[in-house]
Amino acid sequence: MFDLLRLPGIKPVDLRTGNNRITIVAEAVDDNVPACDGCGKPMYRHGKRKNIFADTPMEMQPVRLEVERPRYRCDVCKCMVVPELGFLDERRRATKRLVDAVRERCLGTTFHDMADHTGLSVNSVKNIALDMIAELDRTVCYETPVILGIDEVNLAGDMRCVLTNLATNNVFNMLPQRTQDHLKPFFKDMRDRERVEWVCTDMWRPFKRSFAQYLPNAKLVIDKFHVLKAASEALETERKIFQSQLTKNERIHVKKSIRWITLKRPKNLSLEEQEALLEVRRSLPAIAHAYDLKEMFYRIYDDPDAESAKHAFEAWENALPDQGLEDFKKLAKTVRNHYDDIFMYWNSPVRITNAYTECLNGLTKIANRMGRGYSYDIIRAKVLYAKYARKVGSGVRVASISGIQQTVEYGPHIPTLVESAEAGEMD
Ligand SMILES: [Zn+2]
Repeated sequence: MFDLLRLPGIKPVDLRTGNNRITIVAEAVDDNVPACDGCGKPMYRHGKRKNIFADTPMEMQPVRLEVERPRYRCDVCKCMVVPELGFLDERRRATKRLVDAVRERCLGTTFHDMADHTGLSVNSVKNIALDMIAELDRTVCYETPVILGIDEVNLAGDMRCVLTNLATNNVFNMLPQRTQDHLKPFFKDMRDRERVEWVCTDMWRPFKRSFAQYLPNAKLVIDKFHVLKAASEALETERKIFQSQLTKNERIHVKKSIRWITLKRPKNLSLEEQEALLEVRRSLPAIAHAYDLKEMFYRIYDDPDAESAKHAFEAWENALPDQGLEDFKKLAKTVRNHYDDIFMYWNSPVRITNAYTECLNGLTKIANRMGRGYSYDIIRAKVLYAKYARKVGSGVRVASISGIQQTVEYGPHIPTLVESAEAGEMD
């Protein structure tokens, strides 16, 4: 029979098809009887043993490999041995070449598809993947960002911490949570900690405490995305308060579109929407007032430098009425509480790149596409070690890390990850 297996030490003796798989029966080449490991005396043949392994698919079908090996016995020690075959992964009940093929592809497909395709159990595929992820965690090395973004994204049922390189738009790392308990040890052990010059995040206070002592050169800047979001939310609160006061009949007349018209920036309104906004001004002065305050707040960020932005904020704060608009007052308080970190924006490179919002939107899109049936660890690996996205725009250098030459990459490119997620290539 033609040796279609090309595996050393065995030869195929039979091939069966059916049940949507190919079964190949192979025998170990049994030419010399070994000597006993214990006493050195020659052993005797003592029957045969058959084991089943999964092998790489053929003709698009899983291959079941039945390997028959001789057993040898030592009369003196009463021990029994079966010759080892180097190409088998006995623990995984698969050939090593199949395990390698699964490792190569498992993060880019579902474990169920991989199991169907190879004849392995879903659990075996998962265990191979987990082994590989542990290895990647030990060996893959991403460049410490000069501008580090930190945010929360909902993944696998919880808010997870995502660290990004905002200068290059790459994912740097992911942590299960954004508490000090997770961040402090991470920063403590981070390679090239002194490289970080900027940390960009939201108004989450414990954060500053978690990095201050470990990132000696980092300045905190609160990204405008989060600050402006608070202004839009304050406007939404006013709209909801107003709508809740209406009767059901009236509510039908207040079109849902008020929400979209008032949330949009004026420059993005169509002619029709501009008309509708005028109508809101005529008939709903309270909403119009909240809308104007939202817009006035947004325009703070149009100011060219920190000084004029601070003045614009003060003017906005003074324009708030004594009564009502509580969420706008809360926003004023928040800005006061984070004053330096918010106005640091004008002196930071974050202002020029605008990468923070892009990163965050990208990660949210990826998160929305994934997360069905996967644990956090698997999703993290799919994002963090996605091969195609790691290749994009990544200047790679070789560095000596604790005395070992290692390749340093930039990490997966977020726009490329988003493209793949949208094409369904990450499931
Ligand atoms: Zn012996």
